[in-house]
Amino acid sequence: MTSNQSAGTTIDWSEGFRVVAGHMELGLTEASPETQGFWDGVERDQLMIKRCVRCGRHLHPRRMGCPDCWQGDLRWVEATGGGTVYSFSTVHRAPAAVWQASAPYCVGIVWLDEGVALFTRLVPDGGGEPSIGDRVVVSFRALESGQKLPVFLVREGRS
Ligand SMILES: [Zn+2]
Repeated sequence: MTSNQSAGTTIDWSEGFRVVAGHMELGLTEASPETQGFWDGVERDQLMIKRCVRCGRHLHPRRMGCPDCWQGDLRWVEATGGGTVYSFSTVHRAPAAVWQASAPYCVGIVWLDEGVALFTRLVPDGGGEPSIGDRVVVSFRALESGQKLPVFLVREGRS
């Protein structure tokens, strides 16, 4: 169930839904019209991002227009699934009880090889913490909440 179907309320998604920190867009946890292609990809174990038809720039799944050429004609493409650790944080006190049994765990921003930043769960090889610049590869898992999401497996060592 998405929030626009809950409690009899209707959310107007026409302007999109953005969570930003600086110039980064964070977090994808539920479907909205502009992210439906991403969630359809998750069902198929495919990491889908957007690509500007005009200039070819790859874009975050939530983008509704290209910030370079101001074009709105975007298409879904499958990402390679590779990237590097841009930043991360180890969560010791989970924000909800369902996550606490997994603490400590790592979340952070992955810089995809296509040049798109995604906020995600990081799964270091053998536990512990990743390092900035470590190579990562996407995997699809049902997380503690039961929701299937892309996570990134960390391979130690810079690219
Ligand atoms: Zn463009």
